[in-house]
Amino acid sequence: MWPSRSRTETVICTACGDQFTRSMAREYDKYGDRWDRKDKTFEYLCKPCHSDLCHHPRTDLEAILVEIGAGDTDEETFLSAYLETVEKRYGRLEEES
Ligand SMILES: [Zn+2]
Repeated sequence: MWPSRSRTETVICTACGDQFTRSMAREYDKYGDRWDRKDKTFEYLCKPCHSDLCHHPRTDLEAILVEIGAGDTDEETFLSAYLETVEKRYGRLEEES
C-alpha cells in the first residue's frame, strides 16, 4: 500500500482570491520571468483571470503616451498633457459632486 499523499495541492488566485487545484492554475511571476525558477515562489492565477490579464487592452495607453510625447517632455508637461488627453477620451477622472 502506498502511503497516502495528497495529490491535490491547492493554490489561491492572486487576482480573484478563488481557491483551486494546482493543476488548474497558471503560474504568474510578477517579474515576468517564468523561466528562472531559482529561489522563487510563484503566484497563481486561475485560467479566467490569466486570460483577462493577457488580453487586457493596453494599446490605448501606449497610444496616449506616444501621442503626448512621453519621455520627450518634462514631468509637469507630461502629466498635464496626460490628464488632458485621458479626460478628453474617457471623461473627467473625478466623481461629480
Ligand atoms: Zn482568478
